[in-house]
Amino acid sequence: MSATLIDTSSSLEEAIAAARPAPRRSRQARVVWGGRVVTVGGDAPVRIQSMTNTDTVDVIGTAIQVKELAIAGSEMVRITVNTPEAAEAVPHIREQLDRMGIDVPLVGDFHFNGHRLLTDFPAMAQALSKYRINPGNVGKGDKRDRQFGQMIEAAARYDKVVRIGVNWGSLDSELLAQMMDENAARAEPWDAQQVMYQALIQSALSSAAYARELGLNPDNIIISCKVSGVQDLISVYRALAKRCDYALHLGLTEAGMGTKGTVASATALSILLQEGIGDTIRVSLTPQPGEARTQEVVVGLEILQSLGLRAFNPSVTACPGCGRTTSTTFQELAKQIDDFLRAQMPIWRAKYPGVENMKVAVMGCIVNGPGESKHADIGISLPGTGEAPAAPVFIDGEKALTLRGAGIADEFQVLVENYIEKRFGGACVA
Ligand code: SF4
Repeated sequence: MSATLIDTSSSLEEAIAAARPAPRRSRQARVVWGGRVVTVGGDAPVRIQSMTNTDTVDVIGTAIQVKELAIAGSEMVRITVNTPEAAEAVPHIREQLDRMGIDVPLVGDFHFNGHRLLTDFPAMAQALSKYRINPGNVGKGDKRDRQFGQMIEAAARYDKVVRIGVNWGSLDSELLAQMMDENAARAEPWDAQQVMYQALIQSALSSAAYARELGLNPDNIIISCKVSGVQDLISVYRALAKRCDYALHLGLTEAGMGTKGTVASATALSILLQEGIGDTIRVSLTPQPGEARTQEVVVGLEILQSLGLRAFNPSVTACPGCGRTTSTTFQELAKQIDDFLRAQMPIWRAKYPGVENMKVAVMGCIVNGPGESKHADIGISLPGTGEAPAAPVFIDGEKALTLRGAGIADEFQVLVENYIEKRFGGACVA
């Protein structure tokens, strides 16, 4: 046993380096409302976006949902602008949000008639901070360039950021047909999937080039090419990122419901974000009946926090439980602590700077409980089946005390609160 146990080859260092998200190298856009500036791209944090599902004509209902999404962590919120009535409502939604103290930038989602709406409703064009334009839904034939141009002129006039957002469900059919014809004439044609990928990228980049020709600042351009398949999204964005330096909006379109939508989005986005691809994300979940719209924001935050790209909430490490935990006590405590931390964060974020990086452990038995609790800032190891009814609490890696009896959950919650006050309270600059 005299041989050294330390691996002195470079393989571990290389593995650690490769496990860090690659740096992003895109241009930086500035999405502005009032005094609030949300930078996107470059060295800015990866931003979280969301979209309402209210009728935009419903000013109060839409403003309330925007507020909920913003409080959940969305840094920009997109709203549908599909009719003259919706366009008229936009400045009122903005005013309502400003009255409520919600300065989140609003993004207008335009299809088919955006050129008319942005021309006919200047107050709407000004109230929005960013326009999403889908090149596949701008117009056909000779109308296309003219109508696209009207929207870009509005963006240039009001100095707004534009997302050129291609979606394979509404890909420019004329462009696709032309590219299919060109491909058929090649000596060795690509398969149809490859032509589709190229058409998505070409649609976005040629539209961006035309927008620049029309005078739009390239820093005010963000690109997306959304598809609904995980492997498709990875292929398209890898190719897209090689071909341009625009900030990229990333999302799996029509991801689906619940677990499926969550896992598919997390899988696709994580792989790309790890490669340094993606400057802003949206998780396009279909809400389950009764589910809050904010769930898409919660999932987006968790993706970024899990990758170590950003920190939003203290994290709770909890074991899955097994045959050593035949009661639900530790599940209930883990949920209670997790819910408590999330509920407090809107206040704590300002009051306790840095608290979002805190780690709490709630473990089910002695096997991994003490070890995992020592790795956390504060952790508790509950007694498993057959163990003595005592729950040691570890603070900053040391056993601090042992809790017993029916009030363990509430007592541990108080200990967490006290820890936060002591550790992060001194840093308060308010
Ligand atoms: S820590 Fe204990 S209860 Fe939790 S999974 Fe491991 S063995 Fe099971």
